[in-house]
Amino acid sequence: MSFGSRLLGLIRAREGPLTRDLVRQPGQFGLGQVPGRLAPDAIATSVCGYCSTGCGLRAHLRDGEALNLSPDPDYPVNRGMACPKGWEALSALEAKDRATTPWIRNAVSGELEEASWDEAITRFIEGMEAVQSAYGPEAAAFLGTGQIPTEELVFLGSLAKFGMGMVDGDGNTRQCMATAARAYKESFGFDAPPYSYADFEASDVIVLVGSNLCVAHPILWERICRNRNQPEIIVIDPRRTETAIAGTRHLALQPKSDLVLFYGLAAALVERGAVDREFIARHTEGFEAFTSFLVDFPRERVLAETGLEATAFEGFVDCIARGQRVSFWWTMGVNQSHEGVRVAQAIIDVCLMTGQIGRPGTGPNSITGQCNAMGSRIFSNTTNLLGGRSFESPEDRAEVAALLGMPVERIPTRVSLAYDEILDGVRAGRIKALWIVATNTAHSWIDSRSIAEIREKLDFLVVQDMYTTTETAQLADLVLPAAAWGEKDGTFINSERRIGRIRKLRRAPGQALADFQIFRLIADRMGLGAPFDRWKEPEDVFDSMKALSRGRPCDLTGIRDYDMLDEAGGIQWPLSEAMAEAGFATQRRLFSDGAFFRANGRALFAFEPPRSVAEPVDAEFPLVLLTGRGSSAQWHTETRTGKSSVLALLKPSGGTRLQMNPEDVRRLGLEGAEVVEVRSRRGGVRVGLWPTAAVPKGVVFLEMHDAATNRLTYPDFDPYSRQPSYKHCAVVVRSAVASTT
Ligand code: SF4
Repeated sequence: MSFGSRLLGLIRAREGPLTRDLVRQPGQFGLGQVPGRLAPDAIATSVCGYCSTGCGLRAHLRDGEALNLSPDPDYPVNRGMACPKGWEALSALEAKDRATTPWIRNAVSGELEEASWDEAITRFIEGMEAVQSAYGPEAAAFLGTGQIPTEELVFLGSLAKFGMGMVDGDGNTRQCMATAARAYKESFGFDAPPYSYADFEASDVIVLVGSNLCVAHPILWERICRNRNQPEIIVIDPRRTETAIAGTRHLALQPKSDLVLFYGLAAALVERGAVDREFIARHTEGFEAFTSFLVDFPRERVLAETGLEATAFEGFVDCIARGQRVSFWWTMGVNQSHEGVRVAQAIIDVCLMTGQIGRPGTGPNSITGQCNAMGSRIFSNTTNLLGGRSFESPEDRAEVAALLGMPVERIPTRVSLAYDEILDGVRAGRIKALWIVATNTAHSWIDSRSIAEIREKLDFLVVQDMYTTTETAQLADLVLPAAAWGEKDGTFINSERRIGRIRKLRRAPGQALADFQIFRLIADRMGLGAPFDRWKEPEDVFDSMKALSRGRPCDLTGIRDYDMLDEAGGIQWPLSEAMAEAGFATQRRLFSDGAFFRANGRALFAFEPPRSVAEPVDAEFPLVLLTGRGSSAQWHTETRTGKSSVLALLKPSGGTRLQMNPEDVRRLGLEGAEVVEVRSRRGGVRVGLWPTAAVPKGVVFLEMHDAATNRLTYPDFDPYSRQPSYKHCAVVVRSAVASTT
């Protein structure tokens, strides 16, 4: 028996049956919550594996395997609620196109062929070593994800960098949260979203910026609905979204004019004297320079560039000035922008100048995208050294090496390239091997047509995923079949910094293995020693995470073990040993003492003049294309949710449709057209037409779930976060009939 087969056998033996200590027995919960026709023999809990809300779910088991899911009424995040994706999460596991065995591309036929794990691990190591010995260690890189447990992120980032000698590795969190991470880090000294979801229920003014919360984070919208203060709900979005309709005020500003709006708001607050001088003096730095900068943002400029009516702007200023507990919440409308970091920091600046932070119902609060984006931000070992440290700091490197028991020389001394820079490195021939884990780059990357060229430049592409059919897996030289959420153990960290436990609820199909076990196979075969030989189970890595976090803003040392996460309903970081001993609240926010994480303890006012968009509209491409989530029943590229017949019923029927203002429809002579061609400088796609006043004149909208959408988008990036600007490019729309004649 080969080494790989023996190891695989050991892994399978250790997995054993779904153990009884993972589950709660009937009688511990009101089984009236359980769908009636089932007679589950036990219940297990887990955190949902889609969005960053981090809802608690109950799995109803028979013979130790999950039959179905329902929301956990005891979990402090969702309190018995779940969106359709959570209810239907098991359907993604049952799809016929699951990767159930490794696949290796035959060099002669060009076809992917089934292989054993032994052959796959051999191919992986030989492929990577061939590239690295020919071109140097930095010729191999990886692209990870915010969809796998934190323990797997730690293992992947450590294996690639400390074990295999890679320097560059990034994650798909670059596509959703890099902007917020960068903004917090610069303004607060650490990537620290300050809030608790309880703040939704405590505010008297809630400002949602670039966030269609009702659709993208429906359970967080439910938290707003629990607010008993009759809050003013201000929605800032060019589109009249479901959330804008449900709010009390809608500021339908021109696309990408949000930075001017927030600087104008700050200027108006200064003019009114609606600032908290004591908070500014005691806890911040740079306010005088900021006020000087604001003279360039008079009301007239704000109205001209945002397109808002004076009464709308004045009403907004008035709400912020008079609010006692004002909270700002932003998502991708801010993050996925050419100047997203400065917009996020303008929101932070407004909170700092008004003292709206550290108290219930306040805060500049970014809502994360993926279920474990927050885990990725702190522990993926990509752009931060483990625990939010710096690769460029000798002290940080020495500390990590000592904690992991390995030579410091194995830690790279420079920060990784960002996602786009890694792909540029492939294009330029500097990076020859790419290992893509749990993300579908060929669908989700901006200007996705460029991925074909990138594939051509690679000597070796490995894709590790739960399906063989993703656009990216189809391009691979080697496919490693991964277990999915629900088939493995670990932890996620949600938007409010809550560490929640995920559980194995079913066996993975065929030969598929948890990513954790795939990493172990590689590390064991390569004989990499510490720290990998200590990481036999996910909880071993969790112990390392605790050690790596000690004394840092993300301190986890007070979390005894996984069981404590269950007992507490998830635990927000930080929780030091001292905090745990003293007793801690379920919902906690940061900065109640006004002490920030920068060296001088003060938060920084960060600001910069607005920049133009990279691809403005013109006579040839006269419309602005916005992209975003189209349905609460679908997740991102629909790789998983697209497998559910139930979720398919819940999304709008008729395929992808372009939202266009009825006046534009008339002006362009498209009345009655069912299909149109949308064309950008990157190419054209055909989609259905949906005339709707939800989008303003001059603007069109496509949902991001369709792979066609990113064939149009323009590859522009925030210069600080390198996050793609998905929400602005120039297009032209014409009749599909005319375009074929
Ligand atoms: Fe909750 Fe998000 Fe899962 Fe829906 S997708 S159940 S909102 S965590």
